[in-house]
Amino acid sequence: MDRAVDTSDAPQAPVDAQCPACGLHALVPVTLAQLANGRWRQVDEPDPTAAQHVVLDTCPVCFGAWFDRGEFDVLGDGAVDSVRLAGMEARRSTRVCPRGHGPMYEHQLPGLLKTPIECCSRCAGIWLDGEERRKLAVRTTTEGQQALKEKLVRRGVIWVAQIVTQLPVEVDNPARGTPWLVYLLLGGFLLLFFAEVQGFLFYRDWAVISGKIVRDYDDSVHTLVTHQFLHGSWYHVLFNAYFLYIFGDNIEHLFGRWRFALLFIGAGVAGGALHVLLSYATATPVVGASGSIAGVMAAYLWSFPRAKLFQTIFFVQLKIPAWLYLGAWVGLQLVMGFFTTKVQFAWFAHLGGFVFGLLMTPLVLRARRFEVGREVRVPAAAYAPR
Ligand SMILES: [Zn+2]
Ligand SMILES: [Zn+2]
Repeated sequence: MDRAVDTSDAPQAPVDAQCPACGLHALVPVTLAQLANGRWRQVDEPDPTAAQHVVLDTCPVCFGAWFDRGEFDVLGDGAVDSVRLAGMEARRSTRVCPRGHGPMYEHQLPGLLKTPIECCSRCAGIWLDGEERRKLAVRTTTEGQQALKEKLVRRGVIWVAQIVTQLPVEVDNPARGTPWLVYLLLGGFLLLFFAEVQGFLFYRDWAVISGKIVRDYDDSVHTLVTHQFLHGSWYHVLFNAYFLYIFGDNIEHLFGRWRFALLFIGAGVAGGALHVLLSYATATPVVGASGSIAGVMAAYLWSFPRAKLFQTIFFVQLKIPAWLYLGAWVGLQLVMGFFTTKVQFAWFAHLGGFVFGLLMTPLVLRARRFEVGREVRVPAAAYAPR
């Protein structure tokens, strides 16, 4: 086995590789500049006043990052010597080096991390997963860059807002690019609701009324689609818009526009259909994007289970992983659907949309991995097109 580490100082070509961890995105270069005060900041253009720059290759989906040899010495917390690691015997990983050197090797760092980090024995580059990066290289994360005062101010503002609204806030999961479809939907919701308020639209005409669909299928089946875009009150429309904004931007970026549109409308139709099948509120008109948004939430759960959300419960602000938050949300829908008589919420519509999202997302993610693998020079081994 050739374990000789290549220590030539030739400038390295840009990385063109699929994320070796999640396979859902190509690695994206991010330029970090060290400012005069010693702190690191992400910059779009090299900053002439900066002491030094490092270009890190990161995955915008799972937040893992690739550190070429030497980069970790600058950005890490000084506890790991990558060249020494690269020379050590270790277990072969299923993940491949983004520089095209084949499988990396897993190294345990007892006392620092529970999970092993991956290191390439040829180029001594290091791969850190999102969580590992938050622990070993805080300088490369947005949160790790904030001074204590900034952190406290931000959390204080969120705390007050959450006591009033009870809405969740993402800790650190910015989407790349502009989520045009999400913006279009948000604008459409507001415009249509305004038209309702002004009397141009009557929401009953476009709502799902299960008794009517059963009796008069041909004449009302279209409401399974139309009901998604109308809302019953300002509170209803703003609440839904907020959830769509929080969860939708990342999913639109990951799915692409057409698949996101299919997810949104499909989940809404599935939600409406389940409501017709299971709810006894047969004369109540149901409107709102809640079922569609439940589908988007299911996609988020599949795609970003370890993303964290702030939620304030009984005045205590907690950082909750998305899987726990969304799991609790599903539990609430189930309990309320089967055991309460509160018909102003269409619990079954939420569940139907969520199930649609759970079924569709793994298929989309699989397709994405193959597509990304075809577009790059170094595909991740597990998803390499054959
Ligand atoms: Zn990834
Ligand atoms: Zn390598």
